[in-house]
Amino acid sequence: MVSYTESAIVDAYSRDASNYPDGWAEAVWIPQSVEELIEAVRECIDRDQPLTLSAGRTGLTAAAVPAGGVLISVKRLNRFALHQSEETAWVWSEPGVVLQELQQSVEAQGWFYPPDPTERSSLIGGNIATNASGARTFKYGATRPYVRRLRMLLGDGEILDLRRGQFRAQQGTLRIESESGRCYAVPIRSIPMPAVSKHAAGLFVQPGMDAIDLFIGSEGILGVILEAELQVIPLPPKVFGLVAFFDSVEGCLDFVEQARHRSYQTRRSGGGDIDARLLEFLDRPSLELVRSQFPEFHPEAEAAIWLEQECTETTAMPLLEQWYELIAQHSTLADATWVGLDAQQQERMQRLRHAVSEAVYERICALKQTKIGTDMAVPEPYTRQLYFLYRQLADRHRLEAVIYGHIGNAHLHANFFAGSEAERHRARRAYDEAVAQVLRWGGTISAEHGVGKLKKRYLQQMFGTEVVDYFRRIKRVFDPKWLINPGTMIDR
Ligand SMILES: Cc1cc2nc3c(=O)[nH]c(=O)nc-3n(C[C@H](O)[C@H](O)[C@H](O)COP(=O)(O)OP(=O)(O)OC[C@H]3O[C@@H](n4cnc5c(N)ncnc54)[C@H](O)[C@@H]3O)c2cc1C
Repeated sequence: MVSYTESAIVDAYSRDASNYPDGWAEAVWIPQSVEELIEAVRECIDRDQPLTLSAGRTGLTAAAVPAGGVLISVKRLNRFALHQSEETAWVWSEPGVVLQELQQSVEAQGWFYPPDPTERSSLIGGNIATNASGARTFKYGATRPYVRRLRMLLGDGEILDLRRGQFRAQQGTLRIESESGRCYAVPIRSIPMPAVSKHAAGLFVQPGMDAIDLFIGSEGILGVILEAELQVIPLPPKVFGLVAFFDSVEGCLDFVEQARHRSYQTRRSGGGDIDARLLEFLDRPSLELVRSQFPEFHPEAEAAIWLEQECTETTAMPLLEQWYELIAQHSTLADATWVGLDAQQQERMQRLRHAVSEAVYERICALKQTKIGTDMAVPEPYTRQLYFLYRQLADRHRLEAVIYGHIGNAHLHANFFAGSEAERHRARRAYDEAVAQVLRWGGTISAEHGVGKLKKRYLQQMFGTEVVDYFRRIKRVFDPKWLINPGTMIDR
């Protein structure tokens, strides 16, 4: 195992994409095999040494940032293999596989792994631990439904081999047996869950649930992912992408409502009409942020939507026409729509979306600002209200803001920029007011980034003390010494 104690290296590993400044560790360990990872974690348990798991460090909530002890990076555990039979296929994967590499490899063999967090340099272990989701979640859901098996090392040194369907909660208890025969019993309660299509805050608990789902999205606080099996599906025969520009935000939001409604109808009826697999929103300030890279944006655009539609050679043109008609009903700029028929054009659209997230980061570095970024989702009927809530809060608190994201899932990111201490204070107030309103609408404080070290207060606000205590009790079942990922999601 490679191990570092040099402060420059330890400091670099003590940060993720959230820029949370308070990470610290005594050492960084980088196991070169799953066996070394198991040995490393068991050594920590024997020594009562806290440990934090780190994958691609693209997290935005400091979940992988250490709060003392040892940081264990899984990035060298990067083997994977596609297994195919006539009807199905799945990928066996170690936790350090880069998402993009896995996706490209299976696509080259005619299969498709749908989960697509915008940051595809993230690793499979990090994706499973955060139940990562992305643009295509609108059609395909988050990471969870694609995880069919997980091998987990627990905080007591035991190993669980969890195959979906193997252990299910019955009569209020989830009973699980480890590879060595140790038994675990977790009381399963019914807790009020937000009525949203994306939710990543707190542990997943549901009557009748499958044990594997407790570990997916648990931000690494219950144990270490050693290996996983991921379901893949047949690669759609053809896809086209569109970027549509709108002369008003209202027109754009009306378009989204219609596009979503017709996509759902198509899925229910089994085909024929349009069915977006992603619907991504960019407001005017987001477009301005990346205009230098994409000078062909229509100058009058107040908002834009990037969408993708799966099709065949014969359905491509009729579907394209249906989309064009729908865009033209809501925008006078329909003729400016970008059409992406080939992979290169579609990658450019994907780059546009990614460029906005990157430009936010570059701007705060260049102007020595910070940003307060939201990750809230609301029940779908409140999509419009969510946009106007963010915009009004930015105006009322005199903050510059960009609003963009996964509008298909009623999930928008607002980034409030703050330079001075006074602006930071106002941005935090805007954030708090947004949380309060989103919770009143039945939404979630985190649709995809998780809680990490930054949103614990909001988790408490969302679920209340009693439920957070219940999460603590679940952690103690699997990590009795409270050694794994201390300070992430819940405090001791
Ligand atoms: C520009 C940008 C865009 C983004 N867009 C999206 C998006 O669209 N959707 C989305 O969901 N996220 C998004 N993210 C956030 C981030 O990419 C995801 O949360 C991602 O899943 C994190 O993966 P990672 O490999 O970087 O994990 P890390 O950040 O290293 O870790 C994340 C969590 O996983 C735990 N972990 C890591 N390995 C293991 C293991 N082997 N066992 C147990 N726990 C482990 C860590 O302890 C931590 O709690 C974005 C980030 C950036 C910077």
